[in-house]
Amino acid sequence: MSRSQVVVIGSGQAGFEAAVSLRGHGFDGTISVIGDESGVPYQRPPLSKAYLHCEPDRDSLALRPASYFAEHNIELRCGKPVVRLHRSDRKVELVDGSTVEYDHLILATGARNRRLSLPGADAAGVHYLRTATEAENLTAQMKSCSSLVVIGAGFIGLEVAAAARKNGLTVTVVEAMARPMARALTETTSRFFSDLHTTHGVDLRLSTGIERILVADGHARGVVTTDGTTISADAVVVGIGVVPNVELAEHAGLEVANGIVVDAYLRTSDARISAIGDCAAFPSVHGDALVRLESVQNAVDQARCVAAQLTGADAVYHSVPWFWSEQYEAKLQIAGLTTGTDTSVVRGATSDGAFSVFCFRQGRLLGVESVNKPRDHMAARKMLACGMRLSPEQAADQSFDLKSAITLHNSRTEASTESRSSLSSVG
Ligand SMILES: Cc1cc2nc3c(=O)[nH]c(=O)nc-3n(C[C@H](O)[C@H](O)[C@H](O)COP(=O)(O)OP(=O)(O)OC[C@H]3O[C@@H](n4cnc5c(N)ncnc54)[C@H](O)[C@@H]3O)c2cc1C
Repeated sequence: MSRSQVVVIGSGQAGFEAAVSLRGHGFDGTISVIGDESGVPYQRPPLSKAYLHCEPDRDSLALRPASYFAEHNIELRCGKPVVRLHRSDRKVELVDGSTVEYDHLILATGARNRRLSLPGADAAGVHYLRTATEAENLTAQMKSCSSLVVIGAGFIGLEVAAAARKNGLTVTVVEAMARPMARALTETTSRFFSDLHTTHGVDLRLSTGIERILVADGHARGVVTTDGTTISADAVVVGIGVVPNVELAEHAGLEVANGIVVDAYLRTSDARISAIGDCAAFPSVHGDALVRLESVQNAVDQARCVAAQLTGADAVYHSVPWFWSEQYEAKLQIAGLTTGTDTSVVRGATSDGAFSVFCFRQGRLLGVESVNKPRDHMAARKMLACGMRLSPEQAADQSFDLKSAITLHNSRTEASTESRSSLSSVG
């Protein structure tokens, strides 16, 4: 793409990375990043971890200081949402009526929290966690209260529970499913975290729904569960997942299906518009059909992929997905997508607090969940990237050296590529 104008909607992880990568690839056109949140782009992972038990410091979250954007000629327009896309005129309209033209548009609108729609859900003291402001409100609330109910035992809910325990609060987690993080994790890892939270004093109520929020004087005072139990608390945190921000794309006639639908190049049904990060549903070579991922890796790698394309590369998106979570002393790292596994084996022992679960389908490695096993995690990412065959027996055998097996696989692949290319040059 020669000198031209790229507009990015969304100043989160993906939008930020797209702008930075474009400059990194030598793009010398105009870059405008338009975000509805105020301030410089910032990282979200600390919001449910250290940020909840430290003195909140916005600067520590910033992906770059404000000066960086001016120095790299990246126009940041923050605090104003884009309200409409005018595809035929190739421009976007902001809430104040102003417009910005584009040659290429990148949608990086992310996702927003799914809201609870139950009696009492709008009371003061009912918290959600997506933005730095929400994290600061929750931190302040935790300082002034002694008990918390967390609705939802997903990653965010459980990280909040761990932070609240660290802050000395009494914590009850209520989860509708039979085990925590059930949509993302195998039963083995899920049970490990269930036990971990119980050991740390969390009252974990599984297979339990919420009927209403208890409210007194306009403030949440706990919840009533679907089995009629009252759980009193000074505040409530809701962590029941997110919905992708697809409305702009949808109103502009772009294809949408649990995310803005893109092809392997991350292009929407309009070739001048890409979609990346939490808002994009893409055909993953590591999954079954269209997938939409909510992770820093996905946001960053998709942004880099689009930046590479816009500066001339023929880049298809096929990065290995990976994700992490931190709860108490356990660092969970996931490589690949483990849903749909038919065989899983454990390497190490869950009782040691350091193990990996290798997940296979029809003999092919799908993904690996590691707890306090960073080497297994790195090996898993490499194996998934290079397509190395591994049997469940090898995975479970701790004397089987994963690193050496990868090195051997790569050298064999290299040798066969060389011999193929020398044969074709002879031919
Ligand atoms: C509390 C928390 C903890 C997390 N922890 C982890 C973790 O440990 N590991 C991990 O891998 N991932 C984690 N994640 C997920 C990760 O942060 C997200 O996947 C990542 O931020 C996605 O980046 P994004 O740019 O796609 O979306 P976002 O970061 O959501 O950015 C999208 C931006 O676009 C803005 N926007 C939306 N619509 C418009 C509009 N019309 N006009 C202008 N701006 C608009 C939004 O307000 C937002 O600022 C966590 C997320 C949260 C909330």
